[in-house]
Amino acid sequence: MAQRTRSERAERIRHLLETEGPAIHAQASASNDRRKETYGGTDDLEALRTDARAIKEDAIERLPELIETVRAAVEANGGTVYVADDAADANAYVADVVRNEADAADTADASGTTGDADAPSVVKSKSMTTEEIDLNEGLEAAGIDVTETDLGEWVLQVADDTPSHIVGPAMHLDRGQIADLFNERFDPDEPFDTAEELTRFARDHLGEIITEADVGITGANFVVAESGTITLITNEGNARKCAVTPDTHVAIAGVEKLIPTLSDLEPFVDLIAKSATGQPISQYVTMLSPPTDSPTLDFESPDEPITGDGNGAADGPGNSDRDFHLVLLDNGRTDMREDDQLRETLYCIRCGACSNSCANFQSVGGHGFGGETYSGGIATGWEAGVHGQDSAAEFNDLCTGCTRCVDACPVKIDIPWINTVVRDRINRSGDAESYDFLVDGLTPDEEAGGIDPGKRFFGNIGTVAKAASATAPVSNWLADAGPVRAALEHALGIDRRRDLPTFRQESLVDWFEERGGPDASSRRAARAARDGGAEIDREVVLYPDVYTNYVDTERGKAAVRTLEALGVPVRVPDLPESGRAALSQGMIATADRQASRLFAALAEDLDAGQDVVVIEPSDLAAMHREYERLLPEQSFDRLQESSYEICEYVYGLLENGAEPSALSTGDGSEPVAYHSHCQQRTLDLEAPTVAVLERCGYAPESSSAECCGMAGSFGYKQEYYELSMDVGERLATQVEDAETVVASGTSCGDQLEALLEREVPHPIELLAPGHSRR
Ligand code: SF4
Repeated sequence: MAQRTRSERAERIRHLLETEGPAIHAQASASNDRRKETYGGTDDLEALRTDARAIKEDAIERLPELIETVRAAVEANGGTVYVADDAADANAYVADVVRNEADAADTADASGTTGDADAPSVVKSKSMTTEEIDLNEGLEAAGIDVTETDLGEWVLQVADDTPSHIVGPAMHLDRGQIADLFNERFDPDEPFDTAEELTRFARDHLGEIITEADVGITGANFVVAESGTITLITNEGNARKCAVTPDTHVAIAGVEKLIPTLSDLEPFVDLIAKSATGQPISQYVTMLSPPTDSPTLDFESPDEPITGDGNGAADGPGNSDRDFHLVLLDNGRTDMREDDQLRETLYCIRCGACSNSCANFQSVGGHGFGGETYSGGIATGWEAGVHGQDSAAEFNDLCTGCTRCVDACPVKIDIPWINTVVRDRINRSGDAESYDFLVDGLTPDEEAGGIDPGKRFFGNIGTVAKAASATAPVSNWLADAGPVRAALEHALGIDRRRDLPTFRQESLVDWFEERGGPDASSRRAARAARDGGAEIDREVVLYPDVYTNYVDTERGKAAVRTLEALGVPVRVPDLPESGRAALSQGMIATADRQASRLFAALAEDLDAGQDVVVIEPSDLAAMHREYERLLPEQSFDRLQESSYEICEYVYGLLENGAEPSALSTGDGSEPVAYHSHCQQRTLDLEAPTVAVLERCGYAPESSSAECCGMAGSFGYKQEYYELSMDVGERLATQVEDAETVVASGTSCGDQLEALLEREVPHPIELLAPGHSRR
């Protein structure tokens, strides 16, 4: 598959922002808000998530055994199980089933009994698995009529459109657009207008088609292996009608939908509605162990069973002609199961929470943030697994690694890590000779050649920043010159509309040494303790992340002054990069090496019981999340236990007797708009900053925006500049009226400063003794 060029991607995103963005944002963010509210009101949420995760891990581990178990159960019930290798295999099997059923009906019709001789017909409920195999196209090519019965899917069928969300497929269309579509297509006596009119028409129209269909096709949210029970969880009830009205029911499910026992369903039924739509439970939870012998209803005459004995009595067990086929789809899943990195994707229950919680998805929807079938954060794993890496490569970069989906996922999938791994694999599939010469010398990394030069540049930003700082201010003047910006845009894809960082001639590390180094810091801390501070026997290694060290040194200085004022001596050694920048570009080998180097550089301090304090939340997040995959377990544990975000650390000091009066304090009511970094929220570290600001006499109000849109290098990239600004605008609108705005992350601050055209410091700058930046 030919990948879109940078300008083609930019154009596509611009188009989606204008056309589908408003409807997607309204619906996805509303679902996300409802999910958060419902999660917040669920006392045992973490236990449910842990249970669900454990069941999925067990089921995928035992998958071959469960396939045989469900085969035996379904066959004992009188049905058939077919394991399809791929899309073509599944489509051919289903087409055969439909043709056979239709032929049987035609034969019966010829003998004057029942049925009709029209083209074979199928009614379907919503199923991403059937989207994955292009079932509709496969059946229509075999001369079979297919009608979608989920309202959203039917709208798309009428509009000849594709799903933009795995749960709400027509999320990109608003009510007015759907009314226009139906009025044009069905030409009603009175034009449709309200949602109620549209829904009633759809229900009546589709109800008739369902009663006439030869075969009903459903997906399955879960398949219980021990009993052959198909679980359908919907809000419309159409799936149940499709399953039980036609005489033949075909359920098509990926093999990963198998769970061992009926009792295993419990956490999933609870979680799926909460995570997908924020409902306590879905409108319809249907559990069928087909073939079902219960009579099916004429919905116009619900008291008269179609397949009963004519007097309202049910057929007895085994007396009906009902037929059932369970098609279990492999289509790459066995390989995903064998792949240590993609295996976790198979735990996905397709709730869409990762899409709803994603700021980029909220702006462009699944037509931008999606591949051939799947959309949203987890789509990278699915697309790489079932359609191949090229499909994933089309949109993988839209995951900024913000991690907001991590808390949303009901089965605790590390979605950002899957995106990082696939990005790494995509990098490695590039042409090794292409543009490597452009960044040679700036890229002391561990990567093979062929990576997009822009990615490689940003992945090695520590080296770039060090060189730029050493040559500042000349490097800053040069970088701002028009021809240089044009060259950077052309070669590295750095959008010329974005302000570049201004590198400081004096790094934070140099400043710290210049003012006397650790000895002077110890004296200052001791003096502060003598002058009324509490007895706090701690020592801090302040981590000089790339931006704090070379660009935003003020927040580093503020952190040093704050800690000293609270009686804590500080050291600011010259330490290696954390690997965050490399990880964001999918350069895992480089990040791995950097993580090991950083741990080695800190090991002695950790052994000595010193605390590592980090200002940039994304670097702390690397130490607390990704390092679990990069460092030996013991090293990870040691660093994680001893490293803190700066305001979290200050909160701990205040809780242990340090006095807020040593800092710059407000009058108790001074309003401050605060935007917490996305990864900081995932680490549950927003609350300490809020608490510290309150203790110091400010009245912080936190933004509810999931992300600032900048996300490290993302907002610099030419193809994503407009998307970055669209996401950032939503945040800026929330905070623009506040006199004081603070943000924890470098990217968040840069983005807000660009949008608000004023300074947006780190909270520690507000708190530092004698602060001057507001
Ligand atoms: S990855 Fe998690 S949040 Fe995303 S759709 Fe799957 S189960 Fe839902």
